[in-house]
Amino acid sequence: MEISYILTGGNLGDRAANLSHAADLLGIRAGRILRRSSCYETAAWGIEEQPEFLNQVLEIETTMDPASLLDTLLEIEREMGRIRGEKFGPRTIDLDILFYGDMIIRTNDLEVPHPRMAERRFVLEPLCELIRDRKHPVTRQTIREMLLACTDPLEVRRIID
Ligand code: ADP
Ligand code: MG
Repeated sequence: MEISYILTGGNLGDRAANLSHAADLLGIRAGRILRRSSCYETAAWGIEEQPEFLNQVLEIETTMDPASLLDTLLEIEREMGRIRGEKFGPRTIDLDILFYGDMIIRTNDLEVPHPRMAERRFVLEPLCELIRDRKHPVTRQTIREMLLACTDPLEVRRIID
């Protein structure tokens, strides 16, 4: 059993419903969801002329190995009709593995901890809500320290619900 943190995000259709549906499918197929962060709204990263993103981090307890977990995430993305277009382009749902226990994985298909999390405020803000004092297994910085050091200019707003 491992604890993994999954970032869910999307900027097309009913974004909140899509995040919630993805969480339901993850809970059924990947493992039990222990906690979820608030949802956060962010201007689109990379290409600005597209709808704003909604993001959330899920804490799940899983018996799946990392490669199977990734396959399950990609399967859910496909089923939910994500059109793979341009990098950083609009999408119904994007599912990323941020952490898998303290495991460090660097293969062609999978990099964990997620290699770009330190540059993305929309990852660190929701993650900080759940695990502010947890140390990144490579840099040994806490999530809170990563957030303080983050220079991402895109504003992230917590959605109160
Ligand atoms: P991004 O999420 O960076 O915008 P994509 O979702 O289009 O980009 O990238 C998907 C690919 O990224 C997957 O096919 C997968 O093989 C690879 N990948 C590498 N590391 C991870 C990770 N930690 N979580 C999810 N996908 C990953
Ligand atoms: Mg992705």
